[in-house]
Amino acid sequence: MAATLVSETPALPLTIRLPARATALRRISEGCGLLLILLAVTVIAGWALDLDALKTVLPHRVSMKANTAFGFLTCGLALLGVIQQTRQSLMWARVLAAFALSLGVLTIAEFTFSVQLHIDELLFSDPVQIINPGRPSMITSIAFTLASLSLLLLSGSRHDRRLSLAPTLLLTGVSFASMIGYIYGVPVLYGSFSNVNSMALHTGVGFLILALGLVLANAESTIVSVLCAPETGGWLARRFLPAVLVLPVLLGFLYLRPAVNFGQLRFGMALFAVTLVAGGALVLVFVAKFLNTTQRNAEALNLRAEEAARVIELSERELRMVTDHLPTLLSYMDLDGHLLRVNRTYEEWLGRPSDQIVGRSIRELLGEAYWTATRPAREHARRGVTTSVETPYPTVNGDRRAVVTYAPDLGPEGEVRGLACMVVDVEDRRRAEAALLQSEKLAAVGRLSASIAHEINNPVDAVMNLIYLAREQSSDEDLRHLLALADKELKRVANITSQTLRFHKQGAQPEPVLATDLFDSVLALHEGRIRNAAVAIDRRDRATVSVECFEGEIRQVISNLVANAVDATLPGGRLLLRSRNAFDLATRRHGIRLTIADTGSGMNPATLARVFEAFFTTKGIGGTGLGLWVTTEILTRHHSRLQIRTSTASAHHGTVFSLFLPQETVA
Ligand code: ADP
Ligand code: MG
Repeated sequence: MAATLVSETPALPLTIRLPARATALRRISEGCGLLLILLAVTVIAGWALDLDALKTVLPHRVSMKANTAFGFLTCGLALLGVIQQTRQSLMWARVLAAFALSLGVLTIAEFTFSVQLHIDELLFSDPVQIINPGRPSMITSIAFTLASLSLLLLSGSRHDRRLSLAPTLLLTGVSFASMIGYIYGVPVLYGSFSNVNSMALHTGVGFLILALGLVLANAESTIVSVLCAPETGGWLARRFLPAVLVLPVLLGFLYLRPAVNFGQLRFGMALFAVTLVAGGALVLVFVAKFLNTTQRNAEALNLRAEEAARVIELSERELRMVTDHLPTLLSYMDLDGHLLRVNRTYEEWLGRPSDQIVGRSIRELLGEAYWTATRPAREHARRGVTTSVETPYPTVNGDRRAVVTYAPDLGPEGEVRGLACMVVDVEDRRRAEAALLQSEKLAAVGRLSASIAHEINNPVDAVMNLIYLAREQSSDEDLRHLLALADKELKRVANITSQTLRFHKQGAQPEPVLATDLFDSVLALHEGRIRNAAVAIDRRDRATVSVECFEGEIRQVISNLVANAVDATLPGGRLLLRSRNAFDLATRRHGIRLTIADTGSGMNPATLARVFEAFFTTKGIGGTGLGLWVTTEILTRHHSRLQIRTSTASAHHGTVFSLFLPQETVA
């Protein structure tokens, strides 16, 4: 079934942790920029005030050149600009980086082409350095070129930022190497050749700080995203990367000390190798164990999730079993009336598959009239109040009266998220109520006619007695003849009244009746109508056994069948009444079979299919549509069966109702 409710749980903890980490890295990057500016300003102050302590930071060391300090200042500021990420700050970052770049490139040019561009002592003269006074070292210039290139790219487009990682990593390598050179005492690493000036120690530190700032400033780079990642990889990187960077350097430094290696470098190397192997192996085992546990947990979680899914599916199926087999429409819709989920009864009522129902609006599916009639109830429900409305519900087989109930689906904050809807068919109940009303009316009319018949009976008796006396006392032949006629007509009146009274006599117990009596009494009541309709009666009574029944009720059944037959027959037609002893094969019981047939219009299949429905009539206001409906009810109580054969063919049109009454009523 296409209907599914999707619930999405946002991964809250991750989305909160991610920016927090990114902000922390950004802060560190900013700190690098500020530290760099502080270093640069200190050295520049040293040059301005000619304080060697500030120029060299560490005593008896190479000084940081003024140009280098300016380079750091511009790079530090540019880094802050890049981190700020506003249009203006990025523009400034580009200008400053371009300045640092030109400084680096020009100094390299001076070295390479052995020219003097007079930029080395532009601000301060350098009394200490004899060759090329005031000029930063070659390696420093290369580092600046890399740093400023990286800054330029970082302040550019997304694509440029991605490219900036290469110069940044190169710079990291160069500055790291120079640091190692200082720590391990390998001058080549910090650019010191026989006659070339080298990178100062604090210059190296400055570049290392700058490199760190640059790496962390590139928020989209792989390095930063790995460090920020909430997954286990990020966790590992955050813990091990600093150790991987610092520990080997530290150990190497330690093992170079004669106090540790007993004066033997080889021993130091061996110690170094052992430590690295042991440490590396330990870390590897730890990481492997960690990964294994993680995977095992994930698998266990998966299993549990599958189990949970199975349970949900089962309960979903059980729920479907219940809802799909209810003769009620159940659905869930959004606030605009789009059906999101429906039970199977919808398919039956609307006569289309559920995938043509789900996702569509009830306005589109059920039409404007229904939409408008149910709107107030929906509005109430949208305000949080469960509301019902009775309205015609359009189904494939025409409108049915239904009670539609909308209930709000309340969220945790009390907000209405959707509407649950239940539609109950009350068509039959309404019909039954109407039928009850109608039958009450008919019963009242019946009682009235019974009392009228009763009232007429006494005067008719009296008049008949009087006529008898008059006939006895008169000697005039003509008068006696007239009195005889009057007596005959009065006998008919007496017959009708007595039959009417019998019609309403309802015994508490079924009593034996003869078919002849039944026909007689019904015909007595309908005689006038039959004569007026010019319908000929063709009667043949062959039943000899009596049947036990509630006489009044069976008379009512036969009376309606006779009335219907007369209604359907044109003048000149025939009404056939038959009775015979019979044996019902289906129930294996003895009884009688009554046949009431006519040569009337007959019924078409559509009419035939609905004759037993309450209120179904083709006679307009002339009919109630209750006769056959009541008939089925009475016959069921008598364990009796009614069969119909009908034809509208012009050659032999007419209808045959055939009724079997068992000899003994079991009820
Ligand atoms: P009513 O007589 O008030 O219409 P009934 O329940 O007695 O209600 O009959 C229902 C309908 O069945 C009639 O309106 C008529 O269309 C059809 N019907 C019943 N008997 C006959 C018949 N003998 N010939 C033709 N149609 C009939
Ligand atoms: Mg009728």
